[in-house]
Amino acid sequence: MSNTKYIFVTGGVTSSLGKGIISASLAKLLQARGYSVTIQKLDPYINIDPGTLNPYEHGECYVTNDGAETDLDLGHYERFLNVPTSQANNVTTGRIYQSVIIKEREGAYLGKTVQVIPHITDEIKRRVQLLGETGDFEIVITEIGGTVGDIESLPYIESVRQMKWELGHSALVIHLTLLPFLATTGELKTKPTQHSVKALLESGVQPDILVCRTEHAISADIRRKIALFCNVNVNSVIESIDAETIYDVPLLMLKEQLDKVVLSKLRLPLKHEPELEQWKEFLGKLKNPLNEVRIGLIGKYVELKDAYKSIAEAFIHAGVANECRVKLEWIHSERLDEANVASKISGLNGIVVAPGFGGRGIDGKIIAIRYARENNIPFFGICLGMQCAVIEFARNVLGWADAHSTEIDSETKHPVIDLMDEQKKVTAKGGTMRLGEYACAITKGTKALQAYGKSKIAERHRHRYEFNNKYFQKFEDAGMIASGINPDNNLVEIIELKDHPWFLGVQYHPEYKSTPENPHPLFVRFVKAALESVQSYSVQSSKLSAVH
Ligand code: GLN
Repeated sequence: MSNTKYIFVTGGVTSSLGKGIISASLAKLLQARGYSVTIQKLDPYINIDPGTLNPYEHGECYVTNDGAETDLDLGHYERFLNVPTSQANNVTTGRIYQSVIIKEREGAYLGKTVQVIPHITDEIKRRVQLLGETGDFEIVITEIGGTVGDIESLPYIESVRQMKWELGHSALVIHLTLLPFLATTGELKTKPTQHSVKALLESGVQPDILVCRTEHAISADIRRKIALFCNVNVNSVIESIDAETIYDVPLLMLKEQLDKVVLSKLRLPLKHEPELEQWKEFLGKLKNPLNEVRIGLIGKYVELKDAYKSIAEAFIHAGVANECRVKLEWIHSERLDEANVASKISGLNGIVVAPGFGGRGIDGKIIAIRYARENNIPFFGICLGMQCAVIEFARNVLGWADAHSTEIDSETKHPVIDLMDEQKKVTAKGGTMRLGEYACAITKGTKALQAYGKSKIAERHRHRYEFNNKYFQKFEDAGMIASGINPDNNLVEIIELKDHPWFLGVQYHPEYKSTPENPHPLFVRFVKAALESVQSYSVQSSKLSAVH
């Protein structure tokens, strides 16, 4: 067995405490001390992956380079660590059972009764150790989805119990809990934490470290009380106070010495002090912007901001790169029409039209794109957003009033967006889209090339439909050019307009690759264009006021 150390992060009291951010922040600190670290998420639901889940259920579906459709926490892992994740970094109960059932059908269990313990737990343990066995990581952090006490989490907690027993000092458990604040008495309460640690103990797992989410600083008395009731050292009670931004959390955990406590429990050397200069510089700029731009994010899931998590984060990174704050205005595409488009969009410095599936809200997206095109407002279309830009151009510039995507209108005479050939025979829904990283060659003299600064790129995809190359020449002649093409199959990956300050759409998802340390060049350039539009407005208005 390799020398990899395993850290498990469980959650108690309530869901949504931010296990993903705590896991990512700890990983960041360990990485900054010179360790190679990866983070994995175990999700206790029965779907094979979140690819088939409605965003209202589960927020964004994040896609890895190798085409895994995963939980949005993997986006945080990549953004914090700046290291790509893969299929192995997200495992669901569905996938665990699927492997075990396939093996059972193959006769691999040699006539034994197949049971949760040991067969399901063995498969969980195998999946946890797969990342360690690659030899690429000294530390694997495994975040267990759900809350301790849930029926569906039990096999995972049992696997943690077994692995702790087998690995001794090479494994530890961090339990994330909540200290509710009672305004009436002005107190932080520890009882829910005590109960959730009890629930863990009932499953035979003693947490080594407690990270306590709180609105207020935790006093030494409360730390001692929690330590006493929960069998942990006082220095293993870590305060996780509400932060202004998620990017503050690594520094808050550093102040609490979470990294030191973890390394000493794993019997690993501290190596050097964490190297976080770039991170701190990013935070400094994030908190002290010189300018502000207002960008409209047009989508049909805007009530649930998690549906566009990576896009929102990519704008934070791109804002910092331009030393400006990006204020996102969330605009519901179903509520946009010809009558209100000017009032909703004219004051914005740019609009981004979001990815999506199906026809709901599509008309509003097309109306917004027309407005941006005709009024020189910077526009950025992502996946379905790019497809809508193609439809809008076909209808209003090329004059094909019925132009559409066959996803929405299978009878259109002008199918400018059509199903890819490779998709025509596909009937099953799960994991069957064009997924993951594909190469793209960028055309000379384009805004895309200006942004990327190189002609060969690779980006992540998640779609079934594509620009219909039959119409390629007509679009180019009218001024919408294909500025990025897949060199292997000629699919159009980027479109842009020649005569517009910044109008660009991509068939892929650039947001998945943006990190604070590597902001995505297209987001950076788009925000720059938005900033230039602010500046040109203010030049125009100062000229106007000089005249009057
Ligand atoms: N529904 C479109 C397609 O499948 C776009 C997908 C997306 O926006 N991710 O091609």
